Amino acid sequence: MDIKTIGVLGAGQMGSGIAQIAASKGYSVILRDIKQEFCDKALEKMKAGLDKRVAKGKATAEDVAATMANISTTENMADLKDCDMVIEAAVEILDIKKGIFKELGEICRADTIMCTNTSSMSITEIMSDLKNPERGAGMHFFFPVTAMKLVEIIRGEKTSDATVAAVKEVGAGIGKAPVECKTDTPGFIVNRCLFAFMLEAVHCYEDGVASLEDIDTAIKMGLNHPLGPFEMMDLSGLDTFPHVCETMEALPVTDWSTPESIKKLVKDGKFGRKSGEGWYNY
Ligand code: NAD
Repeated sequence: MDIKTIGVLGAGQMGSGIAQIAASKGYSVILRDIKQEFCDKALEKMKAGLDKRVAKGKATAEDVAATMANISTTENMADLKDCDMVIEAAVEILDIKKGIFKELGEICRADTIMCTNTSSMSITEIMSDLKNPERGAGMHFFFPVTAMKLVEIIRGEKTSDATVAAVKEVGAGIGKAPVECKTDTPGFIVNRCLFAFMLEAVHCYEDGVASLEDIDTAIKMGLNHPLGPFEMMDLSGLDTFPHVCETMEALPVTDWSTPESIKKLVKDGKFGRKSGEGWYNY
């Protein structure tokens, strides 16, 4: 599918970053927030950030002008009617997101690709009132959007293969590394793995295994992570932690017994690099 015009809903931290990177790669972007002043503020901040890059010699004034020229703003949903794709990055409230997709389904063409940047909610549920839900998917960016390379593409229960392919193409087109999350699982890929890891660090601390400083040092020095789990929790904000944990509670508690897939690899003599094959071939 030839995607040229992308609507971005929400001109906050994430929406403005998504708009900026898409515009910088030549997509025509329509940024929509509930008030024009929110869009204006986002453009101001974006321009100031880009100007800093020019001052540092990382971009030219022409690049900045071209990026800014690719973004228009609006407070009217109806202005998104000709978008080939819409990426929703509004507040993390289910009813608001569901309402947005119901409305977009009426406004946009039947083949407009619909994505949500939700960090914690079910794609299937968010898209439940969307007309033609097979064109809906999750497109989960990471903060700060301009710097983080990854984008997770998440299948809702009704997402079609063609939609996943189109979203992956745009993900790559805006310079990100797209990975596909094949099921609408709580936490998708990154947060599901990350939260299991961070929670285990907290359990170690609460069980008196080590001080939190030593756990951070152990993970940084022993695993070469740039931040320890406690430093990372402080950075992302402890207040969001309980919300994500609530979402993850839908998953079974971690089972420490050897998973079947590992048992099979070991039985087949696939021990990893040392035997020439493990999860990967060497
Ligand atoms: P934010 O509060 O900075 O911005 C949200 C914006 O959405 C606000 O400007 C608000 O006015 C606007 N908005 C509210 N209702 C709207 C509507 N109906 N139409 C258009 N705009 C509307 O929030 P954020 O941090 O940018 O997060 C946005 C989304 O991205 C959330 O779903 C969040 O979970 C997700 N997310 C956030 C992060 C992060 O680290 N901040 C990372 C990944 C995903």
